[in-house]
Amino acid sequence: MAHILDGNAIASEIRNQVSARIADFTLRHGELRLAAVLVGADPAARLYAESQRMRCLRAGVKHDLIELPDGAAQADLLAVIDALNADPAVKGIVLQLPLPNGFDTAAAQYRIDPYKDVEGVNPANIGLLFYDVPIIAPCTALATLELIERSGVGVRGANAVVVGQSRIVGRPISMFLTTRMATVTGCHIATRDLPAHTRGADILVVAVGQPRMIGAEHVKPGAVVIDVGINRVAQPGPDGQARWRTVGDVDFEAVEPIAGAITPVPGGVGPVTVAMLLRNTVEAAFKQLHRTL
Ligand code: NAD
Repeated sequence: MAHILDGNAIASEIRNQVSARIADFTLRHGELRLAAVLVGADPAARLYAESQRMRCLRAGVKHDLIELPDGAAQADLLAVIDALNADPAVKGIVLQLPLPNGFDTAAAQYRIDPYKDVEGVNPANIGLLFYDVPIIAPCTALATLELIERSGVGVRGANAVVVGQSRIVGRPISMFLTTRMATVTGCHIATRDLPAHTRGADILVVAVGQPRMIGAEHVKPGAVVIDVGINRVAQPGPDGQARWRTVGDVDFEAVEPIAGAITPVPGGVGPVTVAMLLRNTVEAAFKQLHRTL
């Protein structure tokens, strides 16, 4: 049976450490303020923004939600980002995704001051990962690395396979593992014979967005399996009515008996990612005092 990497417990530990840093910043430099920008009325983006707000307030971080209506244009969004960049009271900027159709997400992310980019999504920050000196690294990649380190597996020299190679999730994780001297294989939609790659993995990270696509046949016995995927699936309840459930990209029931360590979904990478956002926010605020890498 695998060791279950409990994301809620790990997140709570990180939040405790971060709270002390937040208190330290607030005492010496004034309040810590995060601005979240929400465009349009996407219900999932709004829900995420609300839960982020609660987390911030509990941790002692002020949280402003700036809403642009559905009819807003890219120029309106860029003007809001420019104003937040220029406001010294704002220490962190989060752009809630998805943006409505017609918006250029990458251009908006590129506009965020790299020192206020607490999600680590500005191409400047992603690029600095290449040199292993990000000002702020992407939260999900940080969370994944934290969970791998907590599993106790040695990263140096390990075979690591990252399934999913998106710019914000899979590729930064691959880069982190490369700079820590793992031998990294990046798999994606065009990969031929996925199990032939994943079965060689000492560390298997899955960030695809396909419910339970990784089964026992993909996993080497004893491997550390990190499931980044978040998928909502409908399942029939006892009364025959459909119930919504959140599942990962890994078939947990099938893989848990053979893995060495595994993250559950929910309760794995997700809460650690949120804790990393708080850590990034306070560390970004400290870095803004000097603006050196
Ligand atoms: P994305 O759609 O941008 O990228 C998906 C990647 O998976 C691509 O590289 C694609 O080539 C690859 N892929 C698609 N189908 C595949 C297949 N059948 N076999 C192999 N590779 C395949 O997605 P994303 O933004 O990187 O998110 C991935 C998942 O992670 C989603 O479920 C998302 O909800 C979740 N996510 C979780 C967190 C968290 O904090 N836990 C944060 C961000 C994203």
